[in-house]
Amino acid sequence: MSKQKKFILQEKDLPTQWYNIQADMVNKPLPPIHPATKQPLGWEDLAQIFPAECCKQELDTEHAWIDIPEAVLEKYKYYRSTPLVRAYALEEALGTPAHIYFKNESVNPLGSHKINSALPQCYYAKQEGTTNVTTETGAGQWGAALSYAAKIFGLEAAVYQVKITMQQKPYRSLIMRTFGAAVTGSPSMSTRAGKDIITKDPTHPGSLGTAISEAVELATTTPNCKYTLGSVLNHVALHQSIIGLEAEKQMEMAGEYPDTVIACFGGGSNFGGIAFPFMRHNILDGKQTEFIAAEPSSCPKLTRGKFRYDFGDEAGYTPLLPMYTLGHEFKPANIHAGGLRYHGAGMIVSQLIKDGLMHGVDIPQLESFEAGVLFSRTEGIIPAPESCHAIAATIREAKKCKETGEEKVILFNLSGHGLIDMPSYDSFLNGDLRNYELFEEELNAGLANVPETI
Ligand SMILES: *Cc1c(COP(=O)(O)O)cnc(C)c1O
Repeated sequence: MSKQKKFILQEKDLPTQWYNIQADMVNKPLPPIHPATKQPLGWEDLAQIFPAECCKQELDTEHAWIDIPEAVLEKYKYYRSTPLVRAYALEEALGTPAHIYFKNESVNPLGSHKINSALPQCYYAKQEGTTNVTTETGAGQWGAALSYAAKIFGLEAAVYQVKITMQQKPYRSLIMRTFGAAVTGSPSMSTRAGKDIITKDPTHPGSLGTAISEAVELATTTPNCKYTLGSVLNHVALHQSIIGLEAEKQMEMAGEYPDTVIACFGGGSNFGGIAFPFMRHNILDGKQTEFIAAEPSSCPKLTRGKFRYDFGDEAGYTPLLPMYTLGHEFKPANIHAGGLRYHGAGMIVSQLIKDGLMHGVDIPQLESFEAGVLFSRTEGIIPAPESCHAIAATIREAKKCKETGEEKVILFNLSGHGLIDMPSYDSFLNGDLRNYELFEEELNAGLANVPETI
């Protein structure tokens, strides 16, 4: 009997609801609070900048299942289901008895999982009478996904891209412009926040924090304009649950159930997406699956951060969020996995870590690229530098199985491909990359202005 390599759902079998883990959590995530009044925020407060429906989903701790709008399902069909693939060649290269599966979220027009949430966010914005959406982007995966989704639903998109990455990675801003978005290097002269920074430092390279400030300012000063975010928030993880819900059906087709589920971790959206539908069975049915979030050693909020109320952005414009954090002023090293260079973890994940339902592991930069290269040379897919962290964590687990002889079933999420990130592979193959060790003093400095209690 020939071995089946990949498992694909027919369109008629695609999930029609997202899964909201908040409803099943024994301890609910703490609420976001207003920085000045210290009062919990309601969805109406958040709706001043985000689409209202997303704000309701953000704070929904009641409904475990939320219908995917028909128009979003229609667009999901352009690229979903994504394949669940058994990584035979990687298993063989490692000589492991483990069964390794990956969910391939790189096979869509944008090359990463981000499109799964960009579509509903733009759909809801349009429904609510919004004409414009805005956001920030670092490496550009989120900006690219949003630009495409905005075009599909008839919205104008304005994306602030960190100036230095715009210069270093020109292709993603070209992708955004091809989809019709207006892309501005940040800091820019088009906002007060940007002007202030440029006046002080005309050669400022930009940062994600500054770009967020510019996008939020544009949303609050432009009529019918909403701000959107590609990670961290609860409603983004909700939309991403489509990944795990499909994977659950596909694992069933493969006749297996995962002992371990792994994803890389920036703000938690692709992790939550693949993990939560399986974690549901740990909470409700006593399953014992282990959940591992792989973060970079240079930005280790899960393994070395503190649980605090902290700002979501560098400038301190956002509500205070309950999160494992390195401090909003923490400056991560300039690693190539741009999508993982974020100081905090989402509210749901932060509570789940406190409750012992999952844990983080930290991966040094060189180990991540070694894993990515092995994966390329076995499975034939060049992974995004972010996704390399999930592969490295998977390889660690598979090697443990080799030692113990356990035939564990490991499932990881391949969050994106790396074809637009080839300069980072160039640096790795040339031996120009290094690891970044983080010292206790740097961790303490990041948290210096984040009070222990509010
Ligand atoms: C943005 C991104 C990430 C990190 O974001 P999460 O919200 O933690 O998933 C990981 N992988 C890829 C390919 C990304 O584009």
